[in-house]
Amino acid sequence: MKWKTKLGAGVTALVAILGVVTVPAATAAPASTLAAPDISLANIKTHLNQLQTIARNNGGTRSPRGGGYAASVSYVENLLKNAGYTTKRQTCTSCTGQSQNLIAEWPQGDANQVLMLGAHLDSVSAGPGINDNGSGSASILEVALTLARTNPAMAKRVRFAWWADEESGMVGSRYYVSTLSGTERAKIKTYLNFDMIGSKNWGYFVYDDVASVKAVFDEYFASIGIETEGDTEGDGRSDHASFKRAGIPVGGLATGAGDIKSYEQADKWGGTAGAPFDNCYHRACDTTANIPDTPLEKNSDAIGYAVWKLAAAAPVATAHR
Ligand SMILES: [Zn+2]
Repeated sequence: MKWKTKLGAGVTALVAILGVVTVPAATAAPASTLAAPDISLANIKTHLNQLQTIARNNGGTRSPRGGGYAASVSYVENLLKNAGYTTKRQTCTSCTGQSQNLIAEWPQGDANQVLMLGAHLDSVSAGPGINDNGSGSASILEVALTLARTNPAMAKRVRFAWWADEESGMVGSRYYVSTLSGTERAKIKTYLNFDMIGSKNWGYFVYDDVASVKAVFDEYFASIGIETEGDTEGDGRSDHASFKRAGIPVGGLATGAGDIKSYEQADKWGGTAGAPFDNCYHRACDTTANIPDTPLEKNSDAIGYAVWKLAAAAPVATAHR
């Protein structure tokens, strides 16, 4: 997530009004119902270790100012190509170091109805950026690989993006949206953004820009007994901003950056009240030691659920238990 610029002193505290969500008693699923995919936590951690190694080999960072960003693109791209994805690098001429967005499309489903997912793959210069935003990048990568491996019948086309140069002002995603023709823009039915989903002192935040999109994530979290809150810390501060401005419905998940966890939130989710969600946000200590399993696992499974729910041809059951 990019630095907070001027959000006004009082970030409005959204009172969670979700309350208890009633999940209907399990009934025998029709044979045509798909199980929600299990997104492998072990594989996500392998990707994060690779990103950490890339940073170590490039002066401790994956910023586009050094070789760490380009090496991150190559790592993700190779895995996607081997899995059968159509990939494309887009040179962002307005980005630091003319860095590249990586776009990958799964060649199934209606090409005129696109579900798009994105995460920024760059880090700040100060550190390796493992929560910010190795977490989102590795999670959507593993969702993409799981989609290829399980190969369900698709209604919609799924397109993934790893954005360049988010940290200096969401530059890569803005460039991408600016290059879309009206026709191409209209094909993107929903854009989902994932920026920091493994914070050490985590919360469960769901973008509340579009109620019907938020409902899909909330449905998943309710099925595993987790109460969410609408996201306010990330408003206008990540790559969904340009999509939203272009009139594309957006959604996404976050576990918190530099904002402080309240006592109410600690009661609800555990962790430390009065401390930031991620005290290594934009610092050298944002390493693989800064990212616990719990939020990473639950958020990546939520992403998998949303992709299957919004793009697969058959209905999807909430939990894979
Ligand atoms: Zn950031």
